[in-house]
Amino acid sequence: MADIIVVGSINADLVVRAPRFPLPGETIQGEDLATIPGGKGANQAVAAARLGADVAMVGRVGTDSFGTSLIENLKQNHVNATRVHRDEIVATGTAIIVVDAHGQNSIVLSPGANAKVEPADVEPASFLDSKLLLLQLEIPTETVLHAARLAKESGLRVLLNPAPARELPNELLALVDFIIPNETELAQLTKQTVSDEKSAETAARSLVTGEAQIVIVTLGANGTLIVNRNSAKHIPSFKVNVVDTTAAGDAFIGGFAVALLGGQSLEDAVQYASACGALAVTKFGAQPSLPTADEVKQFLRARQND
Ligand code: ADP
Repeated sequence: MADIIVVGSINADLVVRAPRFPLPGETIQGEDLATIPGGKGANQAVAAARLGADVAMVGRVGTDSFGTSLIENLKQNHVNATRVHRDEIVATGTAIIVVDAHGQNSIVLSPGANAKVEPADVEPASFLDSKLLLLQLEIPTETVLHAARLAKESGLRVLLNPAPARELPNELLALVDFIIPNETELAQLTKQTVSDEKSAETAARSLVTGEAQIVIVTLGANGTLIVNRNSAKHIPSFKVNVVDTTAAGDAFIGGFAVALLGGQSLEDAVQYASACGALAVTKFGAQPSLPTADEVKQFLRARQND
C-alpha cells in the first residue's frame, strides 16, 4: 500500500488567542479562530510525506466537516487516506486550544473518532509491500497492539512514539524495534526520574527487551540519546532560533523514519531527524512547520560548511 503506514490519530486543532484564560463562568473575547490540522498520527504521516516518503494513514474521523477537511489535508500532503474511516456516530477528534498573551496554552482534548479506531480498522492487506509502521498512543492500546502484531507478521519494522505516555503491555514493548519518547514520556512510561543524560540512559535501558531493540530519547535543545542493551550515544541538537517548539517530536520521527528507509545508518538517521526537529522549531504551528526534503538538504549542507 505504501512504504510507511501510520496507524494513529487525526485531529482538528481549534485555536483562539485571547488576552488571558477565562475564569469559570466567564466569557471573554478572543481573536479569530484558526482551525489547524493536527493529531500526532496525522502530523507524523505528513512529516514523512513532506520529506518525500510514500505514506498511508489508517485512522478515523467523523462524518462532520472537520473530518472532510482533514482527509483533504492528508491528500494534499500526498498521504494515502483511503483507509481513514468515517465514523457515523462520533465526531472528529478535536483539541480546543486557548493561547494567552504570554504564549501559554490551555487545551481540552476531545478524542472523538480517534477513540473508536478499532483493531478491525487495521487490515492485514494494508501491510502488503510496506516497510515501516509508525505508532503513537492517541488511539486505543488494543488497536496499537494489534497493528504492531500484524506488522511484525508481515516483516515490517515497528516504531512507537509513546505519546501521550501511558502504561503499556509488555507484549507491545517487545514487538517494537524503535521506541522514541521525549524526556517526560520516558519518565512517565518507566516511572523513573529523568533529569539528565545518565538517568535518561538508565530509564531508556529499562525499556529494552531485545538484543536489536533501540530506544531514542529526544531531549529538545539538549539533543538525542540513542540507547540499546549495551551502549548509549548522545547526538547534540542543531543550534537554531526557536519560534515555537510544537511538533518538533513529530518532525523528528517523520525524519527518522524516512532516513532509515533511505538506508542511512542509525546515527545518520538521528542526525537527519534532528535537522527536521530543529527546522520545525524555527516556524510557528504544527503541520505548517514540518520541513520538506529540500529544506532539510539545504540546512544540512549549510551546517556542514559552518
Ligand atoms: P517533543 O516535541 O516530542 O517534546 P523534543 O522537544 O524532544 O520532542 O524535540 C524532538 C527533537 O527535535 C529533539 O531531539 C531535537 O533534535 C529537535 N529539537 C527540539 N527542540 C529543539 C531546539 N530548541 N533546538 C534545536 N533542536 C530542537
